[in-house]
Amino acid sequence: MREHFELRHTDVAGRIGELTVPRAGVTVETPALMPVINPNIETVAPARLEEEFDAQVLITNSYIIRSTEGLRERALDEGLHEMLDFSGAIVTDSGSFQLAEYGEIDVTTREIVEFQRDIGSDIGTPVDIPTPPDVSREQAERELRETEQALADAEAVDVGEMLVNAPVQGSTHPDLREEAARNAYATDLDVFPVGAVVPLMNSYRYAEMIDVVAAAKRGLGVDAPVHLFGAGHPMMFALAAAMGCDLFDSAAYALYARDDRYLTVRGTEHLADLDYLPCECPVCATHAPADLRARDDAERERLLAEHNLHVSFGELRRVKQAIRGGNLLELVEARARGHPAMLDGYRALLTHADQLEREDHVSKDAFFYLSTESARRPEVRRHHARLDRLPVTGEVLLTEGKGGSEAYDHVWRVLPPFGPFPRELSDVYPLTAETPERVDSAAQEAAARGVTRLVEGNPDAAFTLAHDDWDAAALVLVPDSVTLRNRVVDTE
Ligand SMILES: [Zn+2]
Repeated sequence: MREHFELRHTDVAGRIGELTVPRAGVTVETPALMPVINPNIETVAPARLEEEFDAQVLITNSYIIRSTEGLRERALDEGLHEMLDFSGAIVTDSGSFQLAEYGEIDVTTREIVEFQRDIGSDIGTPVDIPTPPDVSREQAERELRETEQALADAEAVDVGEMLVNAPVQGSTHPDLREEAARNAYATDLDVFPVGAVVPLMNSYRYAEMIDVVAAAKRGLGVDAPVHLFGAGHPMMFALAAAMGCDLFDSAAYALYARDDRYLTVRGTEHLADLDYLPCECPVCATHAPADLRARDDAERERLLAEHNLHVSFGELRRVKQAIRGGNLLELVEARARGHPAMLDGYRALLTHADQLEREDHVSKDAFFYLSTESARRPEVRRHHARLDRLPVTGEVLLTEGKGGSEAYDHVWRVLPPFGPFPRELSDVYPLTAETPERVDSAAQEAAARGVTRLVEGNPDAAFTLAHDDWDAAALVLVPDSVTLRNRVVDTE
């Protein structure tokens, strides 16, 4: 077990956890957002991030500090916390990004990890190889070996109380990501960034991002804190949290502000296109778009960065409340309606329903049926699996109606998308689901698959299905042995 990370609440594969950071003497509640501080360009001062935004952890780049005359001496002399004026946890990156950008850097893992230790970093990082998406398997494998060597080199450094990242690479090859995660988890290292996913996010490839994270999660234990490295857009926090990401970092709040880009939970707007500021934060409540456009560049950049931070932290609180309330998938579903690429991400998440189900807890407040995707949620699959184990005999009526019938030995309810269940389970999650009156074909088809599971598990029983005018696409899935009655047409 990794003692520095404890789970408090879970929903889907999302979790609220506590990451103990011994060197900083703080406990960070996850999911957490780490604003990225460029040591050379301070958009919003770290002390303000701590006081006004309640940032508990931030991330800065030890490679830039080490290679910048003046900063290097100050960091070694004063320590990072005093230099940045921040008392929470400070994570340091290693120069891997610069390595990927420029092809080489003048520091080894041992040197940079020792430097991170010496400047008072709370979570250090080795020089891993951030292999981009879509490269050949050979390249991904070769670079993975280098990353694994970097992890081994970091393990060999005496870091004291500093925690150390064990980045998980492997490009867009799921089996390599899974293997990389398993090897990283087997080290003594502490936090697990899923690396080099920024190109996927920048090009809105959320479905592939989810596949990459799912693969990494398969190789990691549930007690592994997972950092989605470079993920700073609030539109995907709910989706990534539902797949089990615990830490996010935002350079986006500052980078986007620099180009007059305005973050929202549904996507990115450009200040030039806005007639109103669709947000409740202090910046937006007290400025009109024209006011912002009239400010000088530095002032406008700072105000937009503050808005971007408010939106990002606000969404993270919404994600945490959703985990607490057991309705994270409902939030993901709402976000999936903001952008088609997010819908792809949500659909990709549902293809991992088996994996989600292993971590999802069984009982929550309510299941809301909100779209055809809801028919593919883990709760529906779990109910179908349960039907394999529910024995029933004799003449059985499966009905969407409320009433009983003495003509049958047993009368079970049918609720799309779940399918049939004994009435005594009506008060048990998820069969307490809120579903629309106007049920769609996807829900009926899922219910029909449930009927099939029950029928196949009880070959000696005789089933009648009394349905509310189901679509042909659903009825064709019901086994031929089942007698069909349409309750809407046949009212007897
Ligand atoms: Zn705002």
